[in-house]
Amino acid sequence: MKAALFKAVGEPLAIEDVPDPEPGEGEAVIRVARCGVCGTDLHSTSGHGYTLPAGAQLGHEYAGEVVAVGRGVRRLKVGDRVAALPVVGCGECEACRTGIDVLCSRWRGYGGGLADYARISERGATLLPQTLSLADGALVEPFAVGRRGVRLADPAPTDRVLIVGPGPIGLSVLFWLRRAGVRAVALLASSDRRRPLAEAMGAEHFLLESDAAQEEITAALGGAPDIVFECAGVPGTIARSIALVRPQGRIVSLGFCMVPDQFVPGMALMKDVALRFSLIYTREDYTECAAALDADGDRARAMVTDTVSLADAPAAFERLRTGTGGGGKLLIDPWLGR
Ligand SMILES: [Zn+2]
Ligand SMILES: [Zn+2]
Repeated sequence: MKAALFKAVGEPLAIEDVPDPEPGEGEAVIRVARCGVCGTDLHSTSGHGYTLPAGAQLGHEYAGEVVAVGRGVRRLKVGDRVAALPVVGCGECEACRTGIDVLCSRWRGYGGGLADYARISERGATLLPQTLSLADGALVEPFAVGRRGVRLADPAPTDRVLIVGPGPIGLSVLFWLRRAGVRAVALLASSDRRRPLAEAMGAEHFLLESDAAQEEITAALGGAPDIVFECAGVPGTIARSIALVRPQGRIVSLGFCMVPDQFVPGMALMKDVALRFSLIYTREDYTECAAALDADGDRARAMVTDTVSLADAPAAFERLRTGTGGGGKLLIDPWLGR
């Protein structure tokens, strides 16, 4: 089969022939229908912080149809349509009981979705609702990230909320805030690039960072934000969130910043701010996300700006890296044009 492989920092992904995956015990193989690409893929191939080993197969936001099952598989059968966790824990330890499998010290990785076929774990598989397309199924992973963040912040419909960073994670937060009935939501962006995307997903206030931004946010929301979601993951955005949130407000950081950042703890203390980080999602978020996308797919789908074939994936990946693509979610359809 064909797969997209990481070769080296500074080189585009390579599309190569690799052996078809075989399902081990408790595993299945899916024919990949769509696989998303995200900031984590860029981080792990950029040479900043953690870098994947040469030859690694990318892709962790995938959905597809089961074509083979291994020994001991009970819940899945050939023909089932699934989205699958890219990292699966042992299922027995204290960390696994948190529901966040990545916290398990015995986790196993099931990335490799940027390929014709991918191996998945039955434990990590979410059966998709019959009416949800496989293309929408690939959105379960990124939208589950937003669901967990919004769940942690626990907004009331009357809360004033600011999202810093309108990338796919910020937009998935917007999706869940809308579903929670939160009325006053503003997005703060460094450029206008994603304005149409945010508006298509229901954003009413898309504001640009500037010296006047704080006043504009206050005017748009009717006061300082009760909750700030930090979804930019670049240095300075935590300090900015502390400056913008109201006294005793809460900040949830979802951005994945892998370089040192600075903020003045005393500034957060002086406002009695609650700051917490959110690591991906629980298994339940995954399942709930599939149901929500089934019910509210139009608004979620607006986030997808590019769908390309596996052959075109390396070039699209570089456009994502340089910020010259569509600005929303990039999906790879391995079978497009074949
Ligand atoms: Zn991702
Ligand atoms: Zn475990």
